[in-house]
Amino acid sequence: MSSTEPSSDPRIYRVGWICANRKAEYMVALAMLDELHSNPLQVLGNVNTYMLGELHGHNVVVCYPKDPDQVVPTPFHARMMLEEFKTIQHVLLVGIGQGVPMQNNEDTDIRLGDVVIAIQESEVIYLNDQFRSTSVKNLADEALRSAANQFLTEYKKSQGDTLGKNMLKTWKHMPSKSSLFRWPDICEDYLFNSAYEHVEFVRHEDSRDPCESCDRDELVCRKKQRCELLPRIHSGVVASLNYPLRDARTRDRMVEMHKKIRCLDMKSAQIANAVGGLVIRGISGYADSHQNEKWQGLAALAAATCASWLLSCLPKAAASKDLVGNAGTI
Ligand SMILES: [Zn+2]
Repeated sequence: MSSTEPSSDPRIYRVGWICANRKAEYMVALAMLDELHSNPLQVLGNVNTYMLGELHGHNVVVCYPKDPDQVVPTPFHARMMLEEFKTIQHVLLVGIGQGVPMQNNEDTDIRLGDVVIAIQESEVIYLNDQFRSTSVKNLADEALRSAANQFLTEYKKSQGDTLGKNMLKTWKHMPSKSSLFRWPDICEDYLFNSAYEHVEFVRHEDSRDPCESCDRDELVCRKKQRCELLPRIHSGVVASLNYPLRDARTRDRMVEMHKKIRCLDMKSAQIANAVGGLVIRGISGYADSHQNEKWQGLAALAAATCASWLLSCLPKAAASKDLVGNAGTI
């Protein structure tokens, strides 16, 4: 449903949750809310669609681009949200990204469905087309970063159990008939050798595997096997590019230049630079040619579950203390 004006008082919202207009991202965001204040709102003259609600006692605006062709939100979308909801003080950038596979240790061994969260100021960077990096000037406010650190501490104590349980709780509410929301099998986490290109296959109607024709002998032999699909959270660098990277050899060259990068996406660095914001990305691919949608639902859910858990660590009293700053643009 669309509307010309918010049906709820826009001055009560303190948290902005920016996601892409990919179905998986906004559907899991909606499913996270404890209470819904409105149907999706499309304000005249505004480029965003908003969903308003409450989560862990915080009034939250979920925001994504209205234009179906504008898959990824931009700084313009973020600024429009802050103009519409002037009392927003904490911004979360929640969605999916591409993992950078490394196997040096537990922290860098990133698998599909895992989550990368950029907490420190140096952990969001912008990469230009020559992979030169620019640090962003402004990230999340202190209260949000502190909540993120507390959430990570709680996650480590729970050894991942709480994350998995919370994900399953929400997963039950997702539309089971949608191919986006079918729980993938851990065996379908394909990481192919970088030189091996995806082989197109005309799928049968019921086939869910776009890599059906890809040679399994070309799969990377992981040092450590995971026995169950229990997403893990990694704190590390998220790098934003101007385009979706779908070439593993280019990815590897980029990683040689920037060894701390754990995740690649588009525009989050520019948004963080423009309005501040804490970046949380679920991993749905490896920035190679073997792209498919089947991990998007799980990856989006993992990121949204982390965002929800983080908000449960954000003191409600802190909501009036830290203002989202404005910095320069990239
Ligand atoms: Zn493939």
